[in-house]
Amino acid sequence: MAPRVLLVEDEPDLARTVAYGLKREGFDVTIAATGRAALEATSGPLPFDAVVLDLMLPDLGGLEVCRRMRSDSRTRNLPILMATARGEEIDRVVGFEIGADDYVVKPYSVRELSLRIKALLRRVENIKESDGMQVAGPFRVDVPSHTAWLDDVPLPLTTIEMRLLAFLMSRRGRVQSRQQLLDGVWAQGGSDITDRTVDAHVKRMRDKCGAAGAWIQTVRGVGYRFAEAPDEDAIP
Ligand code: CA
Repeated sequence: MAPRVLLVEDEPDLARTVAYGLKREGFDVTIAATGRAALEATSGPLPFDAVVLDLMLPDLGGLEVCRRMRSDSRTRNLPILMATARGEEIDRVVGFEIGADDYVVKPYSVRELSLRIKALLRRVENIKESDGMQVAGPFRVDVPSHTAWLDDVPLPLTTIEMRLLAFLMSRRGRVQSRQQLLDGVWAQGGSDITDRTVDAHVKRMRDKCGAAGAWIQTVRGVGYRFAEAPDEDAIP
């Protein structure tokens, strides 16, 4: 079955061109011209496999749409690719801060967009295929069902945050470099995801864990690790 993509784009010509190109790449594309239309579409009966979300929309901005999708259990794990005309690094990080999985900078080629979407879908597949339950400290992650718990309370993590947590848990006590995390968690080529992207996702994931976030330690100049014990000091 062709992957279903929701293309949220308010410029009709661009939406048509991109939708046409993506269809040629094998996607089943639905266009939403506003943020509200996007939220309506994703709350419908047919699930989407990915969303391409324009940052600048006339009604609800892309960041707000993303935030709302992330706070709804039906769309919490839906891969979201943010399309932004603004190139500034800060905006990119902000995009990740609110939970987008990846981004493209406008103007982008359909080919580039297609590769990014395929990478996101592969990532979801990898998660589905990786082994069942990770348990470490107060955390439990059921990778195939995209569910994480902290002290038996569900943790509202995005797909990428959950994958990060599971990856660190499965390598408990061992420092993982940002590059190892990029390779293991993002597992894609051709994307310009950077170390800072890793940092932004780890920070966000850790913030959601409250005090238990201390289990995920920053190892200065190297990367991150999941602690062996809760009171273990971080490596300086
Ligand atoms: Ca726009």
